[in-house]
Amino acid sequence: MAKYIFVTGGVTSSLGKGIIAASLAKLLQSRGLKVTIQKFDPYINVDPGTLNPYEHGECYVTDDGAETDLDLGHYERFLNIPTSQANNVTTGRIYQTVINKEREGEYLGKTVQVIPHITDEIKRRMMLLGESGEYDIVITELGGTVGDIESLPFVEAVRQLQWEMPEEDCLVVHLTLIPYLKAAKELKTKPTQHSVRMLSQEGVRPDIIVCRTEHPLTAELKRKIALFCNVKQNAVIEAMDASTIYEVPLKMLQEGLDVTVLKKLQINGYAAPDLARWREFLDKLNAPKSRVTIGLIGKYIELQDAYKSILEAFVHAGAVNQCKVQIVNVHSEFINNENVSEKLKDLDALLVAPGFGSRGVEGKITAVKYARENQMPFFGICLGMQMAVIEYARNVIGWKDANSTEMDTKTPYPVIALMEEQKKIKKKGGTMRLGAYPCQLAEGSLANKIYGKTMISERHRHRWEFNNNYLNDFINAGLIPSGKNPETGLVEIVELKNHPFFIGVQYHPELKSTVENPHPLFVNLVQAAKYYAEVKASAKAGRMEKETA
Ligand code: GLN
Repeated sequence: MAKYIFVTGGVTSSLGKGIIAASLAKLLQSRGLKVTIQKFDPYINVDPGTLNPYEHGECYVTDDGAETDLDLGHYERFLNIPTSQANNVTTGRIYQTVINKEREGEYLGKTVQVIPHITDEIKRRMMLLGESGEYDIVITELGGTVGDIESLPFVEAVRQLQWEMPEEDCLVVHLTLIPYLKAAKELKTKPTQHSVRMLSQEGVRPDIIVCRTEHPLTAELKRKIALFCNVKQNAVIEAMDASTIYEVPLKMLQEGLDVTVLKKLQINGYAAPDLARWREFLDKLNAPKSRVTIGLIGKYIELQDAYKSILEAFVHAGAVNQCKVQIVNVHSEFINNENVSEKLKDLDALLVAPGFGSRGVEGKITAVKYARENQMPFFGICLGMQMAVIEYARNVIGWKDANSTEMDTKTPYPVIALMEEQKKIKKKGGTMRLGAYPCQLAEGSLANKIYGKTMISERHRHRWEFNNNYLNDFINAGLIPSGKNPETGLVEIVELKNHPFFIGVQYHPELKSTVENPHPLFVNLVQAAKYYAEVKASAKAGRMEKETA
């Protein structure tokens, strides 16, 4: 039987509940336990797929095609195991299920209410992964902050489960903030006391308090928090700001979070933590021997969470290469023919980001042209790949008005077009081509060399595709379709022959990069960027030599 850990948050949002949950999971996994994490979000959207990235950051996609919260990305990156639809549940999905049941007559004769019907559905979903028999421990992160009106049914569900389950099967971790008042030169515990009191009023008794803080907590302060929050002193855990999220598991290990959890859950005979690969990764990350600057060309760059998985994939790829990858955000809306060289010339590689709609696409196309003509390593993801195809059509084949029908429905050359099965779709939610699909790589292609195999599986989230009516024109003009869906023939990868690294992928490789399995495309892009930087540097040195001679 699985045991359950619930992670709640108090005082403020954005404290990093997802990272704390993932770090605890990592430590328990490193001791030989089978762990998974799920997130319950209190908003009414059925999933975050219809949310603007400015609202909610990146939409993470699982193998089974669920559009989910970006915290699931952290879970996968830390644990190196895939998540699924069941790992992310929203208020919208809960209500949808209950209302559908009501329409089917399952509650016939009864008044359907928040308690017990909504809370029962929450509880059923909270227990679901644990009942599969696959896991020893299920960690559930509750989105939002304790005290929010919309979180109430979730906290009530946790209260009931805490009451129903044997003491040793259920544990609540409460994450709070201990603010530092500069003027008083003091850390303040009052907001934490209040948030624990609020949680207690809602009937949930936390077993462990994790305290986000910019300064170390003294033993005296820990004692005070323990006393007023009604937990033992070893259950007050300091979570100091870390230089990278990947340090957090080690900090939690030092604080003994995992041991406190194991004791409370009465799990005996656990192994010593095996974090050898994790530490090896951190050692490399912290001791870079080289440096590259990669341009991220996107339109949501004001909000870093919009490209979370891409940024993390670069962290993983940088560590493998012992290379510090500095990302420079370039707003695609402001790139044009006149300024492109000025904006991009100091970069060592370009990544043209995924996206939707026409804002900023012309700048992306201009950036692709620059990378293609200057032999600069180029990596296009999803919309980025589509822009590479359009750029090639316009500037190499000579079809000036080539476009995607997403941007121009009347283009004479719809080189990117709506997928056949998408044409009849009217509803927006959960209807894109989503999740993992197989892809066959052309023997001897760059993609084939990078992956080291011919059959891969990658995750998708798009409606438009490479228009195969133009396939031969592109092949004749030198664009190689190096990856295809084996059943439908859909082009998934394009690359160029006479270029050191030019790859566009219709899928999202960033979603599958983890600490222990960095994605080969990102790893190779960093290598290509290093090489490009060296070539640039030696050309510059050559020029200077000539000038001084
Ligand atoms: N808007 C494009 C499509 O739907 C690309 C999507 C993306 O970049 N994820 O096909």
